[in-house]
Amino acid sequence: MTKFISLSSGSNGNCYYIGNEQVSLLIDVGIGGRTINRRLAGHDLSAAQVDMVLVTHEHMDHIRFLGGFTQKYKKAVFVTGELHKVLDRHFATAGRLDGYVRETTPGVQTECMGVKFTPFSVPHDARDTVGYYIDFFGETFTFVTDVGKVTDDVVKYCSISNRLIVESNYDPGMLVTGPYTPELKKRIAEEHGHLSNEQTADLLRRSWHSGLKSVFLCHLSANNNTPAIAFDSARAALNSVGGEEVTLCALPRREASPLFIFD
Ligand SMILES: [Zn+2]
Ligand SMILES: [Zn+2]
Repeated sequence: MTKFISLSSGSNGNCYYIGNEQVSLLIDVGIGGRTINRRLAGHDLSAAQVDMVLVTHEHMDHIRFLGGFTQKYKKAVFVTGELHKVLDRHFATAGRLDGYVRETTPGVQTECMGVKFTPFSVPHDARDTVGYYIDFFGETFTFVTDVGKVTDDVVKYCSISNRLIVESNYDPGMLVTGPYTPELKKRIAEEHGHLSNEQTADLLRRSWHSGLKSVFLCHLSANNNTPAIAFDSARAALNSVGGEEVTLCALPRREASPLFIFD
């Protein structure tokens, strides 16, 4: 039995939990340990039980509390060699991860406590952003957020996963007419920014396979998207390729999602 919870999702802070009775991991620590604990406690889980942290990139909404969390809970932190260099100098993490970092290489599988995971590079405006393909004791996940465009690698890993946690950041029409400055709009929409609902729909159509069971839409913009628009776009894409049975959920930004259990 595998459990998945989104503890927070979006520019306000990202943190995701995958675990079973024996082993568990977090992806990114963009919210505080106390909040993580409170949200896990609702499901009789705790931060102290977490075994490892996988990190995607150095933007604050993904690592703001990684240093404090590591100091307090002393968990292994998996980052690419390039990201390790950045975090060693980053004010949120410098000196606070020493002794806990385990370096990974994009495209190369790492195994820890029976969990197999492969980071893969994605285009984003950070030093070395990765998505993750995770084989969690036979339940396979692709986690991909903060990515400017759908790459062959993204499609490849999504095409072999049972569960997708994929960014669906913005509605292009809302971005254009929304409140952001022209510079910020350009940053979001360009190839090193974020995935639009349409790009995510394209990804779902391209990577659909009969083993796909659930899709969780993450990192929704508060200003340039709504859960309903993102959901409808992804639902239409899945339905157009035969994925009517796939469970679909737009993850909430500022609170935990329900607990999802996969048998
Ligand atoms: Zn982000
Ligand atoms: Zn980012």
